Amino acid sequence: MGKELNIKVKTKFASKISKGFPLVIKESIANSHVLQEEGSIMRLVDENNRFLAKGYYGKQNKGYGWVLTQSENETIDQTFFNGKIRAAVEFRKNYFEDPESTAFRLFNGEGDGVGGLIIDHYDGHYVISWYSKGIYSFKDTIIKALQDTVEVKSIYQKKRFDTKGQYVDEDDFVMGEQPAFPLLVKENGVQFAVYLNDGAMVGVFLDQRDVRRKIRDEYAKGKTVLNMFSYTGAFSVFAALGGAVKTTSVDLANRSLPKTVEQFSVNGIDPETQNIVVMDVFKYFKYAVKKALKFDMVILDPPSFAKSKKFTFSAGKDYTNLLKDTIAITEDNGVIIASTNCSTFDMKKFKSFIDAAFREMNGKYEIIEEFSLPTDFKTVSEYKEGNYLKVVFIKKIKG
Ligand code: SAH
Repeated sequence: MGKELNIKVKTKFASKISKGFPLVIKESIANSHVLQEEGSIMRLVDENNRFLAKGYYGKQNKGYGWVLTQSENETIDQTFFNGKIRAAVEFRKNYFEDPESTAFRLFNGEGDGVGGLIIDHYDGHYVISWYSKGIYSFKDTIIKALQDTVEVKSIYQKKRFDTKGQYVDEDDFVMGEQPAFPLLVKENGVQFAVYLNDGAMVGVFLDQRDVRRKIRDEYAKGKTVLNMFSYTGAFSVFAALGGAVKTTSVDLANRSLPKTVEQFSVNGIDPETQNIVVMDVFKYFKYAVKKALKFDMVILDPPSFAKSKKFTFSAGKDYTNLLKDTIAITEDNGVIIASTNCSTFDMKKFKSFIDAAFREMNGKYEIIEEFSLPTDFKTVSEYKEGNYLKVVFIKKIKG
């Protein structure tokens, strides 16, 4: 383990840390010059040298590290990490016991007590995402803690930090018996083909599990469904299995076509019966208007920020316009499922975008469902930004 450094926290920020705020932001540190090697243990003290917490130094976005413990006599060692992993496993006991869902998040960063560390579980195979050089320096200890606690078939890793100006995704495979890809995992009885060795995105976003189930079980039957920013078509597969008349999946990336074909196929749905379109969504909106296409359900799940040849999209600035385009091609009494994973605004702000869009379109609406992260994506109340997911089901009411 790295050596312990005394880090002075400015008075303005000290009480926040005492109350359990887990992120050590850059501006809060008075003597940042002593921080040199990422992975060093920071002994955080206030300006009167009173102990606040211990954490590690690791640069990640605005942060200079994360708090690991508020007790002065706890050491950050193998026992510490074993305890964190054990608690995380215990918390997800129901997930381990559910044969119908074999993919879930095992460790969710600061929500499980170690910011910058994410571990996902795919039927006995694990993917560890390291969000800074600092947390990566604990690699051996954390991997041992995982192996000590659960049965591990194999481990893959994603380095989600900047190494010499580049995000590298090499050396994904760490240890164990490599599965054949695609690896088939289940979610509420539905199959997903995932590729743990294929860059940052493995084929499915696990945080939408509850939303997908809701769509399949209560909203899809008899409906025409448009899935925008569809990636591998996970929402479309659930909609089709729930009895949708037809799904249309739109994504700009070429890879989305074969991947969506594969997700339908592994679930026994003939992809030929569905519509899969490789296109910029903003172009598709124009196309749909021109062809007078309208849908009973439109799913919007854009990235927080995206740049295509013609358009730039930033969730914080452009969501209202995205909704306006969507309202125009949604049937009366149809449902818009608006989702965002943007952590720079909260649910209240998101609803204000929705309200503005309908107002500007002179339309009426009713919010009928709301979702945030599922329980395996554990968060702490002291760090609200960690609960980034906001999903709203909006019924378009005939004006
Ligand atoms: N809804 C997906 C996840 C979306 S990830 C799911 O449930 O799995 C974001 C996707 O948006 C990526 O696949 C990316 O290729 C796509 N994308 C980004 N900008 C786009 C644009 N302008 N038009 C269409 N797709 C876009």
